[in-house]
Amino acid sequence: MRIGHGYDAHRFCEGDAVVIGGVRIPHDRGLAAHSDGDVLLHAVCDALLGALALGDIGHHFPDDDPAYAGIDSRVLLRRVMAEVSGRGWRLGNLDATVIAQAPRLGPHIPAMREHLAADLEAEVSQVNVKATTTERMGFTGRGEGIAAHAVVLLRALDD
Ligand SMILES: [Zn+2]
Repeated sequence: MRIGHGYDAHRFCEGDAVVIGGVRIPHDRGLAAHSDGDVLLHAVCDALLGALALGDIGHHFPDDDPAYAGIDSRVLLRRVMAEVSGRGWRLGNLDATVIAQAPRLGPHIPAMREHLAADLEAEVSQVNVKATTTERMGFTGRGEGIAAHAVVLLRALDD
């Protein structure tokens, strides 16, 4: 087995929606990023890469590469997962926490889990997503941005 951790944060910018876990959620601002700014999927990519000592998402998909401008982060996640399964590993489980004062994420968590399970070639029961606020403390609490943590356990395919 291998374990990996990922963390990501993006600041708010002008916009009318955020994309979290592949779900477009209407909001009075967007998230500034080279890609679609999906902090949850970026944290999951980093957790997968971390588990196999493959560096981080910025190394695999440089944010100065025009190929990734505005890209759907599910495309990136599927590429990372293809790397993981190509090396003989599959998901044991994923546990993730998204930290946002707003918008409210709870109603969207089932759809996020569906997307993650599909992209990670796994069952929804292997994927947990939690949402929390920081009770108005810190940069997420002040509504400056959104952060996400993710932990994955990988199992060898022949395990
Ligand atoms: Zn990111």
